[in-house]
Parts: sequence; C-alpha cells; structure tokens
Amino acid sequence: MSPKSNGAFSDFMEGLEQRNPHETEFIQAVRDVAHSVFPVLEENKDYQDAKILERMTEPDRIISFRVSWEDDEKNVRVNRAWRVQFNRAIGPYKGGLRFHSSVNQSILKFLGFEQTFKNSLTDLPMGGGKGGSNFNPKGKSSREVMRFCQSFMTELFRHIGPDADVPAGDIGVGAREIGFLFGQYTRLTNEFEGALTGKGLTYGGSPIRKEATGYGAIYFLQCMLARADEPLEGKRLAISGAGNVALFAAERSVQEGAKVVTLSDSDGFIHCSSGLDEEALEGIKALKLEERGRLSELADRVKGIEYVAGKAPWGVECDVAIPCATQNELDGDAARTLVGNGLRAVVEGANMPSTDEAIQCFRENGVIFGPGKAGNAGGVAVSGFEQSQNAARLSWSREDVNARLKSLMQTIHEKCADEMERDEGIDYVDAANRAGFRKVADAMLAYGVT
Ligand code: NDP
Repeated sequence: MSPKSNGAFSDFMEGLEQRNPHETEFIQAVRDVAHSVFPVLEENKDYQDAKILERMTEPDRIISFRVSWEDDEKNVRVNRAWRVQFNRAIGPYKGGLRFHSSVNQSILKFLGFEQTFKNSLTDLPMGGGKGGSNFNPKGKSSREVMRFCQSFMTELFRHIGPDADVPAGDIGVGAREIGFLFGQYTRLTNEFEGALTGKGLTYGGSPIRKEATGYGAIYFLQCMLARADEPLEGKRLAISGAGNVALFAAERSVQEGAKVVTLSDSDGFIHCSSGLDEEALEGIKALKLEERGRLSELADRVKGIEYVAGKAPWGVECDVAIPCATQNELDGDAARTLVGNGLRAVVEGANMPSTDEAIQCFRENGVIFGPGKAGNAGGVAVSGFEQSQNAARLSWSREDVNARLKSLMQTIHEKCADEMERDEGIDYVDAANRAGFRKVADAMLAYGVT
C-alpha cells in the first residue's frame, strides 16, 4: 500500500470503529477486506467519489426481533433474533441462520459482510445476508427446537422470499431446523417456494447441499496444492469441528487419499495418528448428525482413537490445517505451533476462524493460506443451485451437482490466481477480497447513489 493509501486506510478504520463501537468481529472482518481493496480504490476515482467502501460497510438494514416460545416444562422463554440484510447489489440477500448462545449483532454483521464478497466470488446472482438467534439448540428436545423455530419464522417470514432474501443453515441450524422453519414458512405464506435452502430432498432440497461446504473446501485445497505442485494424497489433515462442514470435509479428504488425523467439538478433540478410515468416519457422522452425541463418547467405540479433553487440535503434527468450527478459533500461538510442526497449507472451512496474528504468522512462514471467503464458498454455491432448481421446478442428479460444485470451486481458484498474477505482491486473502469486491462495487456504481 502506498503511504497515501495507508493514511486513508487508517482514517477509514478509525471512523468505522467509532461508528461501530464494541463490534469487534465486524471491525476485524472489515479491516481484512479494506486492507486488501484500498490499493484498488486508489486506482479508481469512480469508486472513491461514490464512497463505495463507506456504503458497503453499512448494512442495507438490520431486522431485530423477539422470539418467545414455551419449553417442555411450560416455562415461557425469550430469545433475541436478527436478520442482517447486508448488500443486495448483485442479487437477493443470501446467507445462513446461526443458532448459538454467543450470537449477537456484531457476529451477524461480520458474517453478512463476509457473505457479500463470498457470494460475489461464486458468480451466482446472490447478495449478502446473515441471521440468527442467541437460542442454543444443544440440550433442547426436538419439540422445543420446533416451537422455537416456528416462533422465529412467525416473525421472519414477512422479510424473506425467493426474490427478496433466502436464508440457509449455519452453526446450530441443520436439516432438522430447516425443516421446521420451512414448514412454518409454507403455512404462513400459503406458498411452496424456494425461500430457504438446505431443505430435505423430499421437499425441494438439492443433492450435495449438506456435503457442499466441506467438499468445496477440499476441492479448493486441491487447486491451491496443485498450483504449488503438491498432491493432497498422503497429506495429514488436522480438521477442527465435527459439524456439517468438518464431517464432509473429512469425508472428501479420505476419499481423495488424505489422512484425517483430528476432529473436534467444543469439549475437546479426537486424534487418530494413522488417519480415520471410511468406516470410522461413518460411525462419527452417525454419532454427530443423527444421535447428536459428543466426541468424548468415541474413544470407547472406535479403535485407534484418542480423545483429548478441553483442547483444540492445533498441537497435533499435520501438513494441512482445516479449521471448520467457528470464528477466531485458531490464534497466533496455535499458528506458531502448527508452523513449528511443519504445516504446509491451511484452508478455512469456517468463517474467519484464523485471527489476524495467525494469518500474519502463516504469511511470514510461507504457508499456503486459503481464506474462508473462497474456501468455504461451496456451501452457498450449492444453495444457489438449489434456488435455480426450485425456480425451474427441476431436480438435478447428485453427480451433476457435484461436478458443478467442483468446477465452480476451480473457477473461484482461477479468479484468485488471476488477481495474484495482476499484482504479484498479494496472496489468496487479498486476491479473494479484491475479486469479490470488484463485482459488487461495479453493480453499486451502476445504480448511482443508493
Ligand atoms: P455445526 O453447528 O454443524 O458444527 C459446528 C461445529 O463446531 C461443532 O462441532 C461445534 O461443537 C463446533 N463449535 C462451534 N462453536 C465452537 C466454539 N466456540 N469452540 C469450539 N468448537 C465450536 O456448524 P457448521 O459446520 O455448519 O458451521 C461451522 C463453521 O462453518 C461456521 O463458522 C459457519 O459459519 C461456517 N460455514 C458453514 C456453512 C454451511 O454450509 N453450514 C457454509 C460456510 C461456512 P459443539 O457441538 O460442541 O458446539
């Protein structure tokens, strides 16, 4: 960045921090993008005059609402919920719903902001949005989750629709929750339409949607490794998380001949130094996705697995780290430990799982680093395919969707590689930010001042 650009960047960030006090996650996400795109702004007076970045960092609107529901003991419970409709320049708002006790407006703003650039990278007509609630489905009965989802949708339904805003799943919102939410949406609107993605296959869902984020991350990793002339086969992969993204990243990795040596949940991690086989992985998927069990139960069930309580998996020797749990789960200390153990590459399955310090450490040590915006875009891409199938009242085959997903991840990688050729001083982080930014910025310019 030129000294002039550097000064403008500092002024911009100071203003943003003043306007959004205490929103640490949102500020972190904006800093990452702004740092990458300031040199692009410097070259483009139209972007500067139109105050594109200032406008892009204010959500179009935030809907905030109360969700009241009754638990199994007949107690009235109250939660807070939001839908952040961040940017609609290139299509209807699109992004997941998160149900977790940590959810607040800052986290949803960071996720909605990130989603805008990720969706742009897919080249599908999708704007950016995100929503959720501080409701925690863990430990709740299915009936309690259903009553919560119905109450949540009773407020949200008036703000969404196939051409307006199309939510999907995220942490704590999987197939079961999407079923409850969509069931209530069709009841309230008297319409059967693609206003949510991640639906079950019997009611408008797409094949490969649940696998898409994890599979897509591995396809992107393969592209990054191929560019560096390295194979995926035989590499040891430390994966965090044991949810939708982590489990299908693990499944694809094993199918591609890599060794998955860890998975984790918020209580600890499992370690299998020889790599999980397909049978062990099927058992883990059943435990996590169907029985809703904990990884701590596995050491007794599966041979060759060690369970380590209370720790993240980053101390384990591996060639590739794939954080797939949550934001800021991989910090500077973890990054230094991984690098000390010979780490070659990182691809982010989760959104913003690496802290700024961790990314800096990877940069300084020549680790190939694929940011979540590019690496985990496969999920929303197949959500886009689900919207297309719903609109055309068609159903594509599993093979077809998987082939489209793979090709789309390769295209995202090519876009990043093109940016890196255009400016040799940048890496995948800057490249993904710039490629995502240009398309949204040009659409906003075309609309005039809105
Ligand atoms: P799930 O709820 O299915 O799984 C999340 C996993 O991460 C669980 O194993 C959970 O453990 C663990 N986890 C969550 N919070 C923490 C925490 N604070 N500390 C340690 N572990 C934690 O979510 P997904 O797999 O859908 O999402 C994971 C990440 O991927 C998120 O960042 C999400 O935004 C991102 N993402 C998801 C997409 C999707 O298609 N689902 C698309 C793109 C990105 P526990 O059960 O103990 O809470």
